[in-house]
Amino acid sequence: MFFLRSSQLIQHRYVHSRGLGASPANPGAAPPRLPFSRVTQEVLAFFRTLLPGRTITDPDLLKSSNVDWLKTVEGNSEVLLRPKTTEEVSQILRHCSERNLAVCPQGGNTGLVGGSVPVFDEIILSTSLMNQVITFDNISGILTCQAGCVLENLSNYLEERDFIMPLDLGAKGSCHIGGNVSTNAGGLRLLRYGSLRGTVLGLEVVLADGRILKCLATLRKDNTGYDLKQLFIGSEGTLGVITAVSILCPRKPKAVNVAFLGCSSFQQLLETFQYCRGMLGEILSAFEFLDASCMSLLEKHLKLTNPITESPFYIVIETAGSNATHDEEKLHQFLEEVMTSSLVTDGTVATEATKIKALWSLRERVTEALTHEGYTYKYDISLPVEKIYDLVQDMRGHLGDMAKNVVGYGHVGDGNLHLNITSPSKDPALLAAIEPYVYEWTSEWKGSISAEHGLGLKKRNYIYYSKPSEAVALMGSIKAMLDPKGILNPYKTLPDNIH
Ligand code: FAD
Repeated sequence: MFFLRSSQLIQHRYVHSRGLGASPANPGAAPPRLPFSRVTQEVLAFFRTLLPGRTITDPDLLKSSNVDWLKTVEGNSEVLLRPKTTEEVSQILRHCSERNLAVCPQGGNTGLVGGSVPVFDEIILSTSLMNQVITFDNISGILTCQAGCVLENLSNYLEERDFIMPLDLGAKGSCHIGGNVSTNAGGLRLLRYGSLRGTVLGLEVVLADGRILKCLATLRKDNTGYDLKQLFIGSEGTLGVITAVSILCPRKPKAVNVAFLGCSSFQQLLETFQYCRGMLGEILSAFEFLDASCMSLLEKHLKLTNPITESPFYIVIETAGSNATHDEEKLHQFLEEVMTSSLVTDGTVATEATKIKALWSLRERVTEALTHEGYTYKYDISLPVEKIYDLVQDMRGHLGDMAKNVVGYGHVGDGNLHLNITSPSKDPALLAAIEPYVYEWTSEWKGSISAEHGLGLKKRNYIYYSKPSEAVALMGSIKAMLDPKGILNPYKTLPDNIH
């Protein structure tokens, strides 16, 4: 079961006493390599027979799978496996479990917390060739597909059939549905369609020892015993490898409108949100924001154009409904209200697909724009909605000119702030000024230190700021039961004192 190592006990106590004890140098850094076996010629021969042409050992080909999207975490795996079927995944894991070989499941490798790449030499198990739609029922809207389907491909597949995916995110062109489920990705449509915990109806999962758990239900209602799929949603590949997903998909809305608005204060932005919920009601599908610093980075690095006059804050509002005239009328009444009451200073509305896409890219591409600024320290925080921008302002004061940029954007509708702090290069002094300060701040307001990105390698030791130690210990027991040798994503999600 789980146990505490003596050096980690200190850290455990520190996390609980918050500032009373001495901070470990960097709790986000990788722990020492655990005593897993190394890949041998015999192991490689087994994989080559099982996956001919799909067992990759060429260092050049392995390079991009060893580095995360942010280029901040790099592993040193010597083998990348590309199974096509659940049975192949099962055989891989059985073999690895019997030989005590560590495994890093990988989807589109767009994760932002260092979870998707090996920390040392873990074998990379990629779902990139598990990309087939299995069934789609156009009466119920239930899609069943393999875990490696790229989110955008699923969206295109469904749109041709008059449906949409219940989630959408800036990484849609690369991320896999299995990765989305493993991280419980939120994204831009959560406000309307809810979390994957509600829309995912069933999962097929291969456990660490190779057993296949076939819980690929396509039922909206099923109260027979424990809902095991929930264990795998958001567990970041530490409890099993998701091989297939069934998910409930909404009908494609007949009318979509996007408004891009400017506000002169965050208070006015919040009041606009209140009006928006009241006046747009059931057709509101997204309420996102970015601040003026984000806009400057979009203009500077991606050459995007601000379509309205400069403002301290920008809002993206999307409506999705079934009657264009009705929706436009509602939206215009809302816009008239917020413009005449001076909550909104300027704005533009798009109903046509290309213009909608252009407005959305101003929100979706902030993450990309930030990567051009040097090193980015990323924080994905849930807070009471009225507090979310206070953290950005407080952090600016706290860091002074130590940071190049302190910017805020995110999902206002879900109380989810993306706080990003950049410096020209990796800066340990800056990191020490940010952490644990940012987590203490969040904990004080009873927020979550990871709203939607997960904990991965980078945040695992900070879990106690959002979860009581009894809950973390229980997570350790579940991990020990499902993966007794700890071969799946070791060093990730759970803190170092739990094995
Ligand atoms: P990966 O990055 O490959 O893996 C993520 C984690 O899941 C890892 O721990 C990995 O081991 C595990 N994993 C992957 N596949 C499986 C599997 N089949 N079985 C078991 N474990 C698995 N996230 C949001 O929530 N909302 C956003 O709005 C959002 N926007 C983003 C925008 C950009 C530009 C970028 C780069 C990222 C964004 N993200 C967002 C983060 C990221 O895209 C999501 O976390 C996404 O769900 C990861 O999917 P992936 O396939 O890339 O998984």
